[in-house]
Amino acid sequence: MSESPLSEVPGSPPVVAAAKTAGKRAKKVTAYKDESSELSSEEDVKPASKKAKTNSGKAQTKAKAPAKKPKVAKDSEEAVDEVTEESAKPAAKKAAPKKRVPKVDPFSEEALGSHPCRCGPPASLGHNASKESKYHTSQGPTHRIGAHTSASGGIENALVNASQLGGRALALFLKNQRKWESSPLDEDGVKKFRKLMLERDMGGLDYSADYILPHGSYLINLGNPDASKRETSYKCFLDDLKRCEQLGIHLYNWHPGSTVGACTKEEALKNVAASINRAHKETEFVIPVIENMAGAGNILGATWEDLATIIEHVENKDRVGVCIDTCHMFAAGYDIRTRETYEESISSFDRIVGLKYLKGMHINDSQGGGFNCKKDRHDNIGLGEIGMAAFRFVVQDPRLANIPLILETPTFEETEVWRREMEILYELQEVDGTEEEVEAKLKEMTESWREELKAMREKSGKGPKPKPAKNESAPKAKGKKAPAAKRRRGKKASESEEEEEE
Ligand SMILES: [Zn+2]
Ligand SMILES: [Zn+2]
Repeated sequence: MSESPLSEVPGSPPVVAAAKTAGKRAKKVTAYKDESSELSSEEDVKPASKKAKTNSGKAQTKAKAPAKKPKVAKDSEEAVDEVTEESAKPAAKKAAPKKRVPKVDPFSEEALGSHPCRCGPPASLGHNASKESKYHTSQGPTHRIGAHTSASGGIENALVNASQLGGRALALFLKNQRKWESSPLDEDGVKKFRKLMLERDMGGLDYSADYILPHGSYLINLGNPDASKRETSYKCFLDDLKRCEQLGIHLYNWHPGSTVGACTKEEALKNVAASINRAHKETEFVIPVIENMAGAGNILGATWEDLATIIEHVENKDRVGVCIDTCHMFAAGYDIRTRETYEESISSFDRIVGLKYLKGMHINDSQGGGFNCKKDRHDNIGLGEIGMAAFRFVVQDPRLANIPLILETPTFEETEVWRREMEILYELQEVDGTEEEVEAKLKEMTESWREELKAMREKSGKGPKPKPAKNESAPKAKGKKAPAAKRRRGKKASESEEEEEE
């Protein structure tokens, strides 16, 4: 295998590829999408190889000698600057992607030495080995923050993109998440992916299998009482799980499904568990991780009890897990805005489900219409109904260390948004002091992030208008599309629970 797989990536470097894909989609969708999370094409797909051993556990074992300057971080920042700079000029919109991002070979010394303790994220993310912090060990920050990155152009690009953003964890789609049938993974892509998961000394980007949390197809409904429809879902589910095993990934996150209004919740939850049991027999190690849902309509999984009921009916409890989405939990009636409500929500999860099942989280703010609104609409960190304080509780909570914490926030095509949100989350770890001091700091961070995001949107010339601060009134959309249509499309573009009602 070549020393430098990135150079084989067709066309342009992956960040640009992702931006291009997103750009295409941006014409069809509006605001609040699962940005860059689409495996846009399956053109280069071929039969896949057999699964092999994973590199789990190895990632943490290295305590390498400090490396040199975080060159890659600088390069990447420049790259992003260039992108936004260019897109700010309408005339330059179609600028050739080639010159936007400097080529960085992910195996080069400059890429691999991106952080003094070699834990992954560039020093620009505000944490480094020499820093005095209880949230930073010799292996890097205690909390594994990442984003749902694009696998456009090749499954391995998800890892490259994650690395270029400085993510210490990632999510990705394993295939087109809105289609029942997809071609198998490309064998060459699988090889590259597995190599990139390895530790840096072994030529990889150091993403242990435990910090990769792929997101399953949106179509899957294992709760459906209709046996033949459920079978179709099961095949899609099993195919996803097998893709994980091919890639050496341990975890697989998906939405449990819905009753479609045709059976009791109990029956649907048992159907989900039965599918997990069946899948365990047809796979070797991957752990299905059930996502909590916002709870609209007949959707399963919005309560801790739903999740517990599924697990109760799973035979091999070593191979089942849960992923908590902060936006969904808030929309489902689990408050996290104050220290007290946060503690109550997490401890009720522990009592009812068990924290040992928590394998990952989705870190999103909510713009669904307030607490307990049952709506699944993600917002940027600190700028939605949940607010900054809750995310400080999350990243300071030792119970949530060492699991993937994945951003699925709106980005209007600019993955720089995620890099900044990661920085903000790491910054939140260090926020301490009296109640008043903390409150003042959070307020300051929120306002400056709101302004920064607004400027980023304006500069990019893309994406929706930013929401006004909470006490301003929302300006009426003028001269735009009908609000209903707009809302529908925005909804469709983000995780949509309704879609599962198929
Ligand atoms: Zn999800
Ligand atoms: Zn969601």
